Amino acid sequence: MSAPRAVKGMHDLLPDRTAHAAWLEARFREVARRWGFGEIRTPVVEPTELFVRSIGESTDIVEKEMYSFVDKGQDALTLRPEGTAGVVRAYVEHAVWTQEPVTRWIYMGPMFRRERPARGRYRQFHQLGAELFGDPGPYADAELIDMLVTFLREAGVADVEVLLNSLGGPEARRAYRHALVEYLEPRRPALSADSQRRLASNPLRVLDSKAPEDREVVAHAPRITDFLNAEDRAHLDGLRAALDRLQVPHRLEPTLVRGLDYYDRTLFEVRGRGGELGAQDAVCGGGRYDGLVETMGGPPTPAVGFAIGLERLMLLAPPPPPPPGTDVFVVAVGAAERLEAAVIARELRAEGLSVETDLRGGSLRSQLRRADRVGARLALLVGSDELARGVVQLRDLRAGRQREVGRDALRAAIRAERSAT
Ligand code: AMP
Repeated sequence: MSAPRAVKGMHDLLPDRTAHAAWLEARFREVARRWGFGEIRTPVVEPTELFVRSIGESTDIVEKEMYSFVDKGQDALTLRPEGTAGVVRAYVEHAVWTQEPVTRWIYMGPMFRRERPARGRYRQFHQLGAELFGDPGPYADAELIDMLVTFLREAGVADVEVLLNSLGGPEARRAYRHALVEYLEPRRPALSADSQRRLASNPLRVLDSKAPEDREVVAHAPRITDFLNAEDRAHLDGLRAALDRLQVPHRLEPTLVRGLDYYDRTLFEVRGRGGELGAQDAVCGGGRYDGLVETMGGPPTPAVGFAIGLERLMLLAPPPPPPPGTDVFVVAVGAAERLEAAVIARELRAEGLSVETDLRGGSLRSQLRRADRVGARLALLVGSDELARGVVQLRDLRAGRQREVGRDALRAAIRAERSAT
């Protein structure tokens, strides 16, 4: 049998990439803390029905991208393709509105979609997300978007710009849907097969199609922003004014739609600008979903949220400076000293130092070479003669200096050497 390989579209993160991911996650938590958000963790597996009901039956995700299976108890389950559905389920299941009028949650973790793998598009990917429940006003949207932009900047993304649109409320969407179908129906033969099918089930999704023939037709389609009622319009204007005042760069993009059904009113996206992520690829998508909590069995509760793709963010943001490496490399001069060298290493680790030893032993030279390779500045040479006298040799590997230090004075000596640079 050939050697097993990772599932197509799913990737290992080796330590240098993991360090970047963990750094971004830590920054996200830190920014979210400043905005008053707490972190929620929900299961990776949820009932299939949850996603069908929330994301929508005639979306790409539900139609063809979900990892769904029937488990041994005959339950229909799915690996979560996104985070909001599970977070809303948890919000309703724990009746969180009975404890607080406004709830601010972030989440992070793996998501699964069986998409065609490409650069920045994977079958297991990770999202950093935020949801704000209980506030219907445009300032809630603005505050959330301000947090998003602050995080992206602190993550190292240059040139952040938010693309904004409004899908209006249910009334505007009904009127728009009607106008859109009237426009598209006579042009049906020019559309892709997928879009022809969607025309009946979910015409708004035609706007989101990537097929070139669809894009040409869509370019001249009626725009949702012409169908907004006075309240929808006021919400959008209030949001834009707030973003102006908060100095968040943004632009109205009336053709923006997203691949999930639950959004209404505010919709937004942040895209890559050149670099490794294509200019059309979104690093973040979000919007308002005032009807979703009620659909899931809770009381009517306005909500707004976003999700950032971690892998795409890693393509846009430079990695952080490497963490400090090994402080001390403990070298056992002979095989007989290996155990005692391990004891000394353990004592130093208890002091918070990063300590390596070469457990394979080997010659003094090969051990020192290894110390060099891991970037250690100091080496401790542990020999039998020294051990008998209760001392070790402390060597500064860069300066090539070496001196004898008593074991009980070792910590102070290492601290002094480290602060000398
Ligand atoms: P969505 O949940 O579709 O609104 O996506 C939110 C963000 O998740 C996108 O802007 C991407 O950054 C990221 N994302 C979505 N799908 C994928 C994927 N298949 N691979 C990598 N990142 C993704």
